[in-house]
Amino acid sequence: MDSHTLKEQIELLIDLQEKEIEANRIQSELEKIPGRIEEMQASLEAIESRLEERKAELEASKKAYRAYEGDSQTQQARIQKRQSQLRSVKTNTEYRSILKEIEDIKSAISDIEDGMLQCLDDIEAAEQQIAELNGEYRQEQSSISEKQKELEAYADEQRGAYERLMAEREEIVSHIDSDMMKKYNFVKSQTAGMKAIVAAREGICMGCNMNIPPQLYNELHRGDELKYCPHCHRMLYVL
Ligand SMILES: [Zn+2]
Repeated sequence: MDSHTLKEQIELLIDLQEKEIEANRIQSELEKIPGRIEEMQASLEAIESRLEERKAELEASKKAYRAYEGDSQTQQARIQKRQSQLRSVKTNTEYRSILKEIEDIKSAISDIEDGMLQCLDDIEAAEQQIAELNGEYRQEQSSISEKQKELEAYADEQRGAYERLMAEREEIVSHIDSDMMKKYNFVKSQTAGMKAIVAAREGICMGCNMNIPPQLYNELHRGDELKYCPHCHRMLYVL
């Protein structure tokens, strides 16, 4: 392999690496999309669960109100019964005792009515909150479906860009010697997603920022043999 060919091969590897980095970036962007959609769905579900809580409270208040209504009717019936008893009493003591009982029942009814008013307040508040949450839910739903459409369009665009990069990558690979490709892939497999081929500038490896021995740096400049950084073992080039 003469120096011209090595230089060409290295340029192809640099180009290949750029495409791969860009393709990886796009892939990780694409991988984030389902999570972003899930996050949006979760915010909708949070509103939904608040809505369910309010609805349960509303039902509880309505049920309590109906129970008070039943109690109130029972107590009214008791008063009527006592009042008819009053007409047939024989003694003052008995009369006063029934009057006292009627007063007690009336006081109980007054408590029941307070409870009923409280229930009506609670029902009104819950209904208002439900209406507000329904509005919030619809708003969030339409905003989510809009954002989801935007994300899907973005994903399509990114997938297209990815496909183009992959095609370009294939084209570049077809011009790289298989031996060179093997070396590149090996270094890449050792660098965990980092660059496999890096520049050397002013005696320093741009991959690990360590000094390259002067002897090696000179050989690198001659460009007749592929060189590796002695520290991080990446492929080196000088332009
Ligand atoms: Zn290095």
